[in-house]
Amino acid sequence: MHLLCYYYLCGTKKKLNNIPMQIVKQPDTFLRQPTQEVKFPLSEENNIILDNMIKIMYQANGIGLAANQVGYNRRMFVMDTSNEKDSPQVFINPIVKSKNNIKTNDIEGCLSCPGEEVKVSRSISINLEWKCRHGKSQHKTFYYLPCRVVQHEMDHINGKLITDHGPILKRE
Ligand SMILES: [Zn+2]
Repeated sequence: MHLLCYYYLCGTKKKLNNIPMQIVKQPDTFLRQPTQEVKFPLSEENNIILDNMIKIMYQANGIGLAANQVGYNRRMFVMDTSNEKDSPQVFINPIVKSKNNIKTNDIEGCLSCPGEEVKVSRSISINLEWKCRHGKSQHKTFYYLPCRVVQHEMDHINGKLITDHGPILKRE
């Protein structure tokens, strides 16, 4: 039985809220498994998973985190590229509508590949459609850092890692 279900059946909502989540790291093959569409209205479980993902992203000093990085193979990720770390964004069932053909290289790290850095070529802009927690469709074109993070997280929910993009430049 899934850990979360166990807590749900045996405990209170408060306990469910406090479930320990761990970042799944490579070479764990869970990171490569297909992820599933999320249904609406959003379940209480998914709401709590998203809250915990935001918490873990901040704790780990990350700027993005996908659900399959914390053990849930669902098509959702969170992101906060603000300096203040006070603007978490939630993306559910994201779909890339279009990508700029112009690409740029930058060095990326990943919470699932600790200590490793890879030069990754990404589109300079990307148009994304997704659902918010309330099931409302959202559209936006992303540029600069958010654009890179969105593409990195889309890779995650499609089972891809930075190490698939090129050689590891640095290993701690
Ligand atoms: Zn990552």
